[in-house]
Amino acid sequence: MNDYVLVVDDEEVNRKLLVKILEAEYEVETASDGKQALQMLKAQPHKYAAIVLDLVMPDMNGFSFLEEYCSDAILQNIPVIVSTGDDNIECETHSLELGAWDFIRKPYNERIIHFRLHNAIERSRAQILRKLQHVEAFDSLTGLYGRDYFQKATREMLDAFPEEQYAMIRLDIAKFNLVNSFFGIHRGDEFLCEVADKIRQFVASKNHVTFGRMRADVFAICMSYEKESELSDLSYRFRKEIREIIPEFEMIPVFGFYLIKDLKMEVNDMYDNAKLATKICKGSYIQNYAFYQDEMSQDLIQEQRIVNMTRSALQEEKFVLFLQPKYDIQEGKFAGAEVLVRWKASDQKMISPGEFIPIFERNGFIMKLDFYVWEHACKLLRSWLDKGYDPMPISVNVSRVSVYNPKLVEVISDLVATYNIPPELFQLELTESAYTSNPYMIREAMKDLQKRGFTILMDDFGSGYSSLNVLKDIAVDVLKIDMKFMSDTEIPGRGENILASVVNMAKVLEMPVIAEGVEKESQVRFLKNIGCEYVQGYYYAKPMPAEEYEKMLFRDEEQALG
Ligand code: C2E
Ligand code: CA
Ligand code: CA
Repeated sequence: MNDYVLVVDDEEVNRKLLVKILEAEYEVETASDGKQALQMLKAQPHKYAAIVLDLVMPDMNGFSFLEEYCSDAILQNIPVIVSTGDDNIECETHSLELGAWDFIRKPYNERIIHFRLHNAIERSRAQILRKLQHVEAFDSLTGLYGRDYFQKATREMLDAFPEEQYAMIRLDIAKFNLVNSFFGIHRGDEFLCEVADKIRQFVASKNHVTFGRMRADVFAICMSYEKESELSDLSYRFRKEIREIIPEFEMIPVFGFYLIKDLKMEVNDMYDNAKLATKICKGSYIQNYAFYQDEMSQDLIQEQRIVNMTRSALQEEKFVLFLQPKYDIQEGKFAGAEVLVRWKASDQKMISPGEFIPIFERNGFIMKLDFYVWEHACKLLRSWLDKGYDPMPISVNVSRVSVYNPKLVEVISDLVATYNIPPELFQLELTESAYTSNPYMIREAMKDLQKRGFTILMDDFGSGYSSLNVLKDIAVDVLKIDMKFMSDTEIPGRGENILASVVNMAKVLEMPVIAEGVEKESQVRFLKNIGCEYVQGYYYAKPMPAEEYEKMLFRDEEQALG
């Protein structure tokens, strides 16, 4: 009897293609979205030897599927091979972080698919075997305690030496799966053994300590400590050493610390709190450790609530576009607007983007939301043009995740072409921090967009560490400076001086400046004085529904048109 493979893809052609490729060696079953797949898997969890998963699907996409999958102790053992549409490294990395075992790219290469699938199934079998042999005490690979024994030993230590102060530490290695994918499992295993050795060395001087491997690349340490700085110091030194094991890959150990208050608490719960802390480091290169705080459980519940609502919100068009006018203070007239998205929740309450954008950036949903907003912005412009108005440009935000999309230029040009919008009416705001994290790709995409007639605004200029460097390398068209970055300075007058110099410098480079977040008349006066051209902020107008903006701006035209 052949092994069963589950193919999850919303496109029927892809499903058919994969069935055709796989059916010689496997029994293939299919599901058309993540939800259906989960139902099938949960009904018969031991049936399937592997899953081939498409990332982009309506209803439940691949990322959401992976999140549920990797929180299920049984499903986790079934290897998932992610199929990605294009060579989007960011998507691939993200899915590996979420527990995918490997990936294949479209268009499909039959031999690669067979090879990777076969490999993954072998690996999972070896892993299950190891689990069966050593459930009780030691992890056969590293020789550290396994999960159960770690918990037992920790309980005993805490009970025997209650006068000490303890921390529960969880440690995993960001992007560890890449080692397996690129160098094979053997190198991956070696790497894990080296990590285990380092842990041994680092805690060798401790009298009261337990440590173990919880699963794959996840380790736990429970140890006595004197000062908190001892712990952050540990994560810093550890990071340096781990980096040296595979220098070309920059593996980063991510630490979560839970400072144990109540020694009677379940060891498992202590570990869960440490795990919660690591969540806030994910995706951050700067911070590789975090301490658990009580709010974290609250935040997580809220985040889960938002994620659960997301799926239907897009289909039901619950996201609405607000527009915030920009004002030309030198000429004394309106000069277009920025599009800001709002989420109309069921109770008619508007959820602000500050709450959901960061979550969407983590789970990949932001790419869909960005597209949704861009398309609706095009529709809006189209409706104004059709009514005979002469609209001013509007700018949309491009999230840092969308910037990674190699097809960004194509997607945007196709969109404006579909709605027949002159590109000069459709401006793009890219946040400064996106430039610093991926300069080459962005530089090329921007040049291309500018060539096609789009205007690029650099959002949040001055918020990053290398704003001036960015300007040197990239020719943006307009700078946006948020007034809040200026008011953060401690020395009086310093913010104003910096602002004046930036405006001056922008003049030399022939770049207009928009000051955002302007709330007071005194700010307007100052900005006018230093020669800043444009202002956006509550002082002139708050973000408003599109209809209101339309009424405000086109009232006069309406009359003229009769
Ligand atoms: P941003 O792009 O820097 O947008 C400016 C933010 O400042 C907006 O917040 C706006 O409502 C707010 N603001 C404007 N004038 C004032 C003022 O005078 N005082 C104060 N205190 N605030 C002012 P909002 O709408 O909550 O958006 C927050 C952030 O969420 C945006 O920052 C942007 O990064 C993101 N965002 C909003 N809409 C979208 C979208 O459609 N797509 C993407 N990718 N991101 C979006
Ligand atoms: Ca913006
Ligand atoms: Ca901004």
